[in-house]
Amino acid sequence: MESISPKSVRTTCPYCGVGCGVLATREESGAIGIAGDPHHPANFGRLCSKGSALGETVDLDARLIEPQIDGMPASWDAALDLVADRFAETIREHGPDSVAFYVSGQLLTEDYYVANKLMKGFIGSANIDTNSRLCMSSSVAGHRRAFGSDTVPGTYEDLELADLIVLTGSNLAWCHPVLYQRIAAAKARRPHMRVVLIDPRRTMTADIADVHLKIKPDGDTALFVGLLGFLAAQGAVDRGYVDRHTSGFDAALAIAKSHDLRNISARTGLSPEELRDFFTLFTQTERCVTVYSQGVNQSTSGTDKVNAIINCHLATGRIGRPGMGPFSVTGQPNAMGGREVGGLANMLASHMHLEDEDHRQLVQGFWASPTIASKPGLKAVDLFNAVREGKVKALWIMATNPVDSMPEADLVVKALKACPFVVVSDINAATDTTCHAHVLLPAAGWGEKDGTVTNSERRISRQRPFLPLPGKARPDWWIITQVARRMGFAASFAYESPSQIFAEHAALSGTGNRGSRDFDISAHAAISGEDYDTLQPFQWPQGQGEPATEQRFFAEGDFYTQDRRARLVAVHPANDEATDPRHPFVLNTGRIRDHWHTMTRTGKSARLSGHFAEPFAEIHPLDAAEQGLGDATLVRLTNDHGTIIVRALLTDRQARSNVFVPMHWTGQFASKARVDTLVTANVDPVSGQPALKMAQVAVRPF
Ligand code: SF4
Repeated sequence: MESISPKSVRTTCPYCGVGCGVLATREESGAIGIAGDPHHPANFGRLCSKGSALGETVDLDARLIEPQIDGMPASWDAALDLVADRFAETIREHGPDSVAFYVSGQLLTEDYYVANKLMKGFIGSANIDTNSRLCMSSSVAGHRRAFGSDTVPGTYEDLELADLIVLTGSNLAWCHPVLYQRIAAAKARRPHMRVVLIDPRRTMTADIADVHLKIKPDGDTALFVGLLGFLAAQGAVDRGYVDRHTSGFDAALAIAKSHDLRNISARTGLSPEELRDFFTLFTQTERCVTVYSQGVNQSTSGTDKVNAIINCHLATGRIGRPGMGPFSVTGQPNAMGGREVGGLANMLASHMHLEDEDHRQLVQGFWASPTIASKPGLKAVDLFNAVREGKVKALWIMATNPVDSMPEADLVVKALKACPFVVVSDINAATDTTCHAHVLLPAAGWGEKDGTVTNSERRISRQRPFLPLPGKARPDWWIITQVARRMGFAASFAYESPSQIFAEHAALSGTGNRGSRDFDISAHAAISGEDYDTLQPFQWPQGQGEPATEQRFFAEGDFYTQDRRARLVAVHPANDEATDPRHPFVLNTGRIRDHWHTMTRTGKSARLSGHFAEPFAEIHPLDAAEQGLGDATLVRLTNDHGTIIVRALLTDRQARSNVFVPMHWTGQFASKARVDTLVTANVDPVSGQPALKMAQVAVRPF
């Protein structure tokens, strides 16, 4: 590998799930130089605006640098003793399910691993959920229904090898910009490559699309059910693959056959001609990847949408081969790592299944833990409801800001106010969540912490420190470990470094019947601290004694179900949501190009804030005229949950009767722009993922 400046540190971007490699350099002046790592296989030197501005976001303004108890500075010992005592006392009096952790895709895998181990194996509850529930849990559920495992079958290279890329529910240009750049470069090299964008909005991703299908919100299941019927009618089903490697095809097809083109047209809002053209293109293009993201996942029918997409790839055998497959791209930098360690309330470590007695015994035996959670814990929305109702009496929030990011976000405020004991670990002193903490714990931030993350193509990369820990800030794994020791579990939480945690995680992945699980990194089970320091990005699986390879899954079937067959799931198109005449606009929430989540880091960069300086509502000019709104006038969006006030941004990119508001602005930056206060906490019944893309609002001038 080409040498880099000895002053540069190879690390990974902390923002989206693309997981780009970054070279960070501390300049003589104290400034931080940032460049894309030319050798990192996710980005080959590319960075987007957010990644390239990382050096502008690591100052210590507004940082939390010492523990606090009830708003007063405290020593680490006092804070950790209090957290351990209150959790232990609550468990003693009310049982293990009376406590909960709410964690984050911002945590590193090692942090996530010890948090999950403490809650599931030592406290004995599965009440650990994560903001990844809001991001990709419908993909997890869809993968598990179809494959028997939470497996992303393909690699980023497939996006460059495909002849057709279908982007559905994904504004890749803004939300995963380096993947967008990779596709754009591939399209320039291979002009026959086609891109189809399926999205109610004409987002910036439309710039690369040959076809933009302005689908109705939540029309995706109908679209892919229609596609399955069309594939069958055209004789494009790969009978060999279906017969050898799948089950459920006939039932899925029976549903598809019950919806003719006119019916699919009504459900999707697309004309029969648009449908026929798209279906024909998909049918005729073997090398096809369907990329999906939050527009699919954040829905009451998110899991069905995922399975409707996967059904079409299974039916055609287009999976696990170069340039083919369904591809879930995750929002956060380490949503995948969190999944791998079992950091969701319904999962177990190493992609094992909480509901499987053998898996529970295996994990408990490996951990030598006194107990193991035996039933799924509370998923994010249920978790905060349980806090509000007094069922959860001690809550520890790590690296996330649920007061702004949860649906019906004002109810989260009520929950935190009602909770007898709230602990928040964060890098920031004053977020909308930290102000509700009884104990605040200063965590290490990007550039200070040390560990691994996994990106959307299953690639594990190192985040390495290049800055000293400020004040008394400490890494999350250290904080959790210290609390675990004080709760009486010192021997099982004796870690002194993240490399020891990674080695244990890797060893666990290699235990038991390896043929029954996809996740295996046991090649690294005996990794030394030195080797961990120099660990190169690699894709899992990499079992004991195996070299690192760029493996795809399922080209030859061999799924992780009991009978080794994939399931085509018989999904029905979602029915149209009943329109509330008082709130006739559909509100769609999402990201913008230059901000990340609740802006605690990107909000520090003047350059990034220059893209959009204020929160806004995109609205079609004709709707704006009907509502008496002019461009940049203040607009009030209201429903039964609350009101926000933002600027109107008139654009025909927006479909009629729809408005788009970004998710980033919080009470810190614009007190009347917390858009998630308007989103009803409806969830997908399978995954528990909230429908953050679909609220109903009234739109009025301010
Ligand atoms: Fe960071 Fe994502 Fe941009 Fe890459 S694409 S630099 S991971 S924000």
